[in-house]
Amino acid sequence: MSTGHSEINEFHWLMDMVQTIDVGLMVLDRDYRVRLWNGFMENHSGQSAAYVIGNKLFELFPDLPEGWFRRKAESVFMLESRAFTTWEQRPYLLRFKNYRPITGTADFMYQNITLIPLVSPDGSINHVGVILYDVTDIAIGKLALEAANAGLARLSRTDRLTELNNRGYWEECLKAEFARVQRSKHPSTLIMFDIDHFKKVNDTYGHQAGDEVIRVTSRTLRGSIRTTDIAGRYGGEEFTVILVDTNADQGLYLAERIRKKIEAQTVTFEQLEIRFTISLGIAQANPQMADHTQWIQGADMALYQAKHGGRNQAVVFHPEKTD
Ligand code: GH3
Ligand code: MG
Ligand code: MG
Repeated sequence: MSTGHSEINEFHWLMDMVQTIDVGLMVLDRDYRVRLWNGFMENHSGQSAAYVIGNKLFELFPDLPEGWFRRKAESVFMLESRAFTTWEQRPYLLRFKNYRPITGTADFMYQNITLIPLVSPDGSINHVGVILYDVTDIAIGKLALEAANAGLARLSRTDRLTELNNRGYWEECLKAEFARVQRSKHPSTLIMFDIDHFKKVNDTYGHQAGDEVIRVTSRTLRGSIRTTDIAGRYGGEEFTVILVDTNADQGLYLAERIRKKIEAQTVTFEQLEIRFTISLGIAQANPQMADHTQWIQGADMALYQAKHGGRNQAVVFHPEKTD
């Protein structure tokens, strides 16, 4: 067998493999006309090689981001070196439908792209080869994992009944805010409040009705504060909110607003109409406090005074003079 014959054979074998390989292959010239379009590209685009070859890529696929792709390809022509993009930078080059049964959750095929300079026999670079990998399985796996992690992180810091921050996460926030206040000298105020005679609510209307009262209270709280304020469920029917850049007077003003709203509203649960009140303690962070737990103690002491003063009221904590 002559050498020439075997070279022709090898060429045919290679072409067969190019056609059947499970990777997209295309060759573009300097005018972005398609010069090679393998079976993968035919199958997934629905466009035959006979139709595509000789036509301009951007006319064939008007949705393709032309400016971005030109910049990529020009750098390959100019620098004579490869270029890559991953699905994380851009989910796909050409929008192909995703037919995979297992990863049926994706509407389209996620793609990683490699561009390679192709050398002509005279040594010049007039063509660029585009290799397109289907990475849908990897992308879906990673996206699902990220979504699950984000969901878990959110769940682990959220109280189920009220969807407020739970105590553990809220205390972490308080710690961070305390450190920030000590550095910045901006005011920051804490409100703690507790539903009055809540045992009676449970006893009179039942635990489910009690739960609804807790939910409504958390909604009223959320609806009364700014997005920068950090609200939490501290215990059964105890709530907290950190008011950033707020002093005790402003804190008292907000506390009164929440108190009046709660006092004025009626919770309806299975035809039951429930009225209730809350007592609130307010404490502004101050330099005498050694750590965030003393800040909580300040608000808690004020809350205790509010309870003993007759409930349905807000009391501001006044630190004793240290001299
Ligand atoms: P006070 O005015 O002094 O605060 O009186 P209180 O009855 O509210 O007293 P206390 O704080 O001791 O009672 C809280 C009650 O809240 C006790 C507990 O059974 C109930 N509780 C705690 N968590 C929940 C909950 O998630 N749902 C319901 N329905 N009740 C709860
Ligand atoms: Mg209570
Ligand atoms: Mg309580």
